[in-house]
Amino acid sequence: MHSFRYVKDQLQCEDVILADLVKKHGTPLYVYSQATLSDHFTKLDQALAPLDHLICFAMKSNSNLAVIRTLADLGSGFDTVSAGEIRRVIAAGGDPRKCVFAGVGKTEEEIAFALDQSIYSFNVESEAELGRISRVAVKRRKIAPIAVRVNPNVDAGTHAKITTGTYENKFGIAFEEIEGVYARASRLPNLRLRGLQMHIGSQLTEVKPFAFSVDKVAPLVARLNGKYGFDFFSIGGGIGIVYKDALASGSEGWWKTPTGRRILTPSTYAETLVPKLKSLGLRILLEPGRFLTGNAGALVTRVEYIKKTGKKNFVIVDAAMNDLIRPAFYDSYHEIVPLGRRGGKTVPSDVVGPICESGDYFAKDRPLPKVGEGDCLVLLSAGAYGSVMGSNYNSRSLPPEILVNGRKASVVRRRQAIPEVWAGEKLAAWQGRKSKA
Ligand SMILES: *Cc1c(COP(=O)(O)O)cnc(C)c1O
Repeated sequence: MHSFRYVKDQLQCEDVILADLVKKHGTPLYVYSQATLSDHFTKLDQALAPLDHLICFAMKSNSNLAVIRTLADLGSGFDTVSAGEIRRVIAAGGDPRKCVFAGVGKTEEEIAFALDQSIYSFNVESEAELGRISRVAVKRRKIAPIAVRVNPNVDAGTHAKITTGTYENKFGIAFEEIEGVYARASRLPNLRLRGLQMHIGSQLTEVKPFAFSVDKVAPLVARLNGKYGFDFFSIGGGIGIVYKDALASGSEGWWKTPTGRRILTPSTYAETLVPKLKSLGLRILLEPGRFLTGNAGALVTRVEYIKKTGKKNFVIVDAAMNDLIRPAFYDSYHEIVPLGRRGGKTVPSDVVGPICESGDYFAKDRPLPKVGEGDCLVLLSAGAYGSVMGSNYNSRSLPPEILVNGRKASVVRRRQAIPEVWAGEKLAAWQGRKSKA
């Protein structure tokens, strides 16, 4: 389910007409649905009810304070990757004790901060990091809860930039080395060996790679649990979402597209994995990001120009790769629909932004209804790895974000003013005074 649909040929998010938001806030504009966020969280949470479990939202997918708060209010924990993200959870009114802290490059300051906030666990990515966490914990007279990230060497069969569970990439510690690492960790002071963690990749649309990696790792978890008395096993995130046919899938129900493509549902995920996990008798942690936020957000953009060259129909829009980098970065697909539904013939169109990079495009040769200057287009499924990856490239300011809840809409990030783009900069000491211009 998601809450973007046409009502009387006008695209709405829940009960709010997107055209009204555009009138008020301009474009480009991110819009999020609170109902969709809640629905996705609740469906996954309920599917996992047979297990003692904690969903830790991977907030790197969308870390807006209002999004964090929505999920915190539903009982979510958080998968964080920096001290900044932990501070965001606190700023949003969430509980740092429900945070796990992942990432291959945690600094001493970050570790100290996380310890002071009594986080749930450090997800440790190397032996050097184990040593560092132990030293910082000793210095601060704290016990650090840790889980080592195992790399199960499973190919998730997803895009190369989002595959993480094979020995080709920088994440985790090789499966064969894990028991030795725990033995050594158990001799380090001020560590509590609290669990084991894995994450094999992102945008997985089948349950098989999850099942395969759980089958491979669960016996290891059981052995380690016998030795060290674990609390949890984290099976990571990575549940995929619908990008093609995204609009129709919203009304069709869970991850079923009208063209019949079936995508992993929370119930298939749970039915397959719960029996494999139940007998461990441990709390199961999950770290979904995209699954919770992806289809809950859209990016609205305005057509600035139509440019026809010999071969192409370019639709030049006011959003760009600095607002949504996924197509440039991962070759990803976002469904693009007009703000007002229109019939008629479609035209193969290249939807491109104004940035001076060939990579600045949203779609190539996409059949789109005929649009002209001033019309608005909506890029769906932009709630995950969208706004959070935004930058000021080309001195473009960051767009606003709106959270919709039923008939209500609230600005949850204001549009950045252009001078804020260089607010932290100044001339060098020898360059005299800044001109007023
Ligand atoms: C990015 C990441 C996630 C979330 O991935 P999604 O595909 O958005 O669910 C979870 N765990 C770890 C360790 C990650 O790096």
